Amino acid sequence: MSGDVAAASTHAASQVHRRRNTCRVCGSDRLTVFLSLGPMPLANAFLKSPDEFAGEPRYPLDLAFCSSCSLVQIVDVIDPRTLFSEYLYVTGISETIVASNRDHASALVKELKLGARDLVVDIASNDGSLLRCFQNAGVRTLGIEPAANIAEMARGGGIETMTMFFDGSAAEGVTDKYGRATVVIAKNVLAHVDDPADFLRGCRALAEESGVVSIEVPYLGDLLEKLEYDTVYHEHLSYFSMTSLLQLCERAGLTVERVQRVPVQGGSLRLHLRSSSADGSHSRDASDMAAREEGAGFADLSRYERFANHVLRNREELRGLLQRAKGDGRSIAAYGAPAKGNTLLNFCRIDTSLVEYTVDRNPLKIGLFTPGTHLPVYSVSTLLERQPDLTLLLAWNLADEIRDQQRDYEARGGRFIVPIPAPRFADSS
Ligand SMILES: [Zn+2]
Repeated sequence: MSGDVAAASTHAASQVHRRRNTCRVCGSDRLTVFLSLGPMPLANAFLKSPDEFAGEPRYPLDLAFCSSCSLVQIVDVIDPRTLFSEYLYVTGISETIVASNRDHASALVKELKLGARDLVVDIASNDGSLLRCFQNAGVRTLGIEPAANIAEMARGGGIETMTMFFDGSAAEGVTDKYGRATVVIAKNVLAHVDDPADFLRGCRALAEESGVVSIEVPYLGDLLEKLEYDTVYHEHLSYFSMTSLLQLCERAGLTVERVQRVPVQGGSLRLHLRSSSADGSHSRDASDMAAREEGAGFADLSRYERFANHVLRNREELRGLLQRAKGDGRSIAAYGAPAKGNTLLNFCRIDTSLVEYTVDRNPLKIGLFTPGTHLPVYSVSTLLERQPDLTLLLAWNLADEIRDQQRDYEARGGRFIVPIPAPRFADSS
């Protein structure tokens, strides 16, 4: 199943894949690969038909640590046009994310007293669900979204949206047309860009002199503590700690004014940034956090080598559990078809010989097959229709929401398996 990456995809890969040998923040060549998860298909490259199973491209997926600036990063870069031009992830579908957006927007509206004269720009605005919260509060909004299909969906819902990739050179075109923004929001996108310093300089140029740049990134601390290795895929190029973020912000002329840990995407950091003034020093909470990270070994390669060993052990345990259940004649399905599920399935070599299918609420994914492992994706009603004995929770970050919606499945004896940090049954805490 793992295929031969060199033979199968060299031709196609040569145009879309390149490998870095320097750090994408500080430029140092002191990079050490500590975990190889590939060869791996692209996490969102769902397949439309079994005809596409043969010749599916796979690429290396190596996680590296920079001993100069401590940035954890993948070194295999896929052309963003391949990754993001048509996108299947729609923010508005998860209730948890919708609620988090509502809280984020209302906090900003209140704190900055935003009104009709203010402009909020959301970069990688997806279906516009975050901006809708600002629009409802009477604030002017603009979305910037690279995926044409998703941008169209946002415009259809009344959210003005430019279809484009954002970088340092894109800011001027936006401000010429719309003026500068009181707030620039970039949620879950900084980790996706190959030159994050350039991206942040663009955010800074887009914001008014006294404006706020609000970014949200998955936090490396959560990834390490909760063993969230499945959140590693080609779209996520950087895995930020506070330590590496401080260095990055300094390169972009931004100061961290506040940092908050938020429980989305497996655990994220939400940072309030402003243009650095002459004496611009980072907030106390940010410096304290960086100090705690140093104490926890975030600047040492050995911390990441330990993580890699735990990841390998997780694979053995999860495969063992599923194989024993299968051997006992149990039926096994999965819940969710998130991008991260595809890292887990492929790395753990879980295909249709172990798990028959998965189910998802996203109508764009129903009827497709998971990349690499080829699980058919059905609608969630299938779970009650077929009542599999066990269901592997690929969307473990939404476990509470899913179990709440699927009470009947559990009431009839079905059991959910949470794969990480150690495989366990969701009903036995
Ligand atoms: Zn570096």
